[in-house]
Amino acid sequence: MTDIMTPEQRSRCMAAIKGKDTKPEIIVRKYLFSRGLRYRVNNRKLPGSPDLVFKKYKTVVFIDGCFWHGHEGCKYFKMPKSNTLYWKHKIAMNMARDYANNIDLKLAGWRVIRIWECDIRTVTARGKTLEWLYDTITKVSEPKKSIVAGYGLDTDYEVSIAAEEPPKYGHHE
Ligand SMILES: [Zn+2]
Repeated sequence: MTDIMTPEQRSRCMAAIKGKDTKPEIIVRKYLFSRGLRYRVNNRKLPGSPDLVFKKYKTVVFIDGCFWHGHEGCKYFKMPKSNTLYWKHKIAMNMARDYANNIDLKLAGWRVIRIWECDIRTVTARGKTLEWLYDTITKVSEPKKSIVAGYGLDTDYEVSIAAEEPPKYGHHE
């Protein structure tokens, strides 16, 4: 295979291959654990292998890397100057997969929260993001009435899936 990565991309890629224990994830885990939440990590049985799974709250959390998931306008997302078409394609495919995974998870009754890596990496944003995340996970909502056997959906829920645009990310503002 031709090596077409910059050194920075290669090191990020290696980190992704070696395991999913990248630093932002560890920060999120430690914080939520300290607030008393318990979770499962990297559950490969669920679409997209969510980084964190909170069964009690029927919620999954993804911490998405800004480069691989195409965080437009972010300083961690710079399209490489060489092989640009290759990278555009690769990132577009990742984003399409995120979108499909979101829908599959929601159809299975999960609430999906995605946060950007930069909101954890940036020290000034981190505190707010973590608090927002805790509050959002633990916000208790009414159980969904089932209209489709085995899915646990109600009409509103179905409409919200149909109307959804590309994956939404959590904002702490
Ligand atoms: Zn970002």
